[in-house]
Amino acid sequence: MESWEDLKKECAGCRSCPLCEGRHNLVFGVGNESADLMLIGEGPGEQEDLQGLPFVGPAGKLLDSMLEMIDLDRSKVYIANMVKCRPPHNRDPQGTEMAACRSWLERQIALVNPKLIVCLGRISATALIREDFRITREHGIWFDIGDRRILATFHPSALLRDPSKRPEAFMDLREIRKEYRALHSADKI
Ligand code: SF4
Repeated sequence: MESWEDLKKECAGCRSCPLCEGRHNLVFGVGNESADLMLIGEGPGEQEDLQGLPFVGPAGKLLDSMLEMIDLDRSKVYIANMVKCRPPHNRDPQGTEMAACRSWLERQIALVNPKLIVCLGRISATALIREDFRITREHGIWFDIGDRRILATFHPSALLRDPSKRPEAFMDLREIRKEYRALHSADKI
């Protein structure tokens, strides 16, 4: 198994897609490197690009509150994105960019080895669950893929843009907490 150090060093110099041209910082990922729960968003925004960290700024604050609601925090989860460099003007990452970046994410997932993955938003859900995934209809549902359970919920930025989605996101969070707790009570048996 490769080391985190080697992976981070190798990824830091990546120029495999045109997104490298506009980046201030590559946003690798952050959190507990052996977490049971991994959160995967789409790509860095402006603040993330400037700070080199995922989910900072208003969407990051909301994500922190969401984690707090289910008795978690950043020390207990690992957070990464589908692409590690900021798409211009915060547009969605394109398929070719996600394909170029995919191996970094796969290697992160292999190292963290989480039992649960939560996709934050449609983009990561279509990449990790199913190409035609419909976030409005299928959020909050666990899908068994390989030896992991994967669920998608709304991206915190979407919840900031449209607060009417928050009650549904809250139900998703309850589902995540239920599964996370079940995992840990099973460990104690
Ligand atoms: S987005 Fe991913 S593949 Fe593209 S340059 Fe950045 S790290 Fe490399």
